[in-house]
Amino acid sequence: MKTIKKDTILVPEKKTIALIAHDNRKDELLDFIKAHIDELKKHNLCGTGTTSKMIRNETNLEVKGYLSGPLGGDIQIGSLITENKIDVLIFFWDPLEAQPHDPDVKALLRVSVLNDIPIVTNEMTGRYLFSSDMLSKSYEKTILRIEGR
Ligand code: PGA
Repeated sequence: MKTIKKDTILVPEKKTIALIAHDNRKDELLDFIKAHIDELKKHNLCGTGTTSKMIRNETNLEVKGYLSGPLGGDIQIGSLITENKIDVLIFFWDPLEAQPHDPDVKALLRVSVLNDIPIVTNEMTGRYLFSSDMLSKSYEKTILRIEGR
């Protein structure tokens, strides 16, 4: 019998933020990043392969790169989220075109909801997030743990 328990963890002031954009939305993400670059500089950044490379090339931000999305990068980032190693997901996914890795996209969104991390999927949500003082403060959050055999 499995039981779901709750634990509390502390999310630090300096967040780890994952950045991902599908091809049709990469320019939009880049504009968004440039508009919020001073805040982003204060945090640890990572992203999928092509997105992170684009950000490194077009800005002076340091962004740790994982695999390209279609090759498993979304799953890598999702796996870090399950380990509470990512605090914020900025994911400009494409609402108009199917992706070869749609199952991975769904999995990434699922674990992000499960781990209660903020998910920014468009500019307006991003503006709300970047105007929140929670981005620069530490706070407690609840995580789930399963007990039983
Ligand atoms: P990319 O992957 O950054 O390597 O383009 C993003 C994605 O398709 O999920």
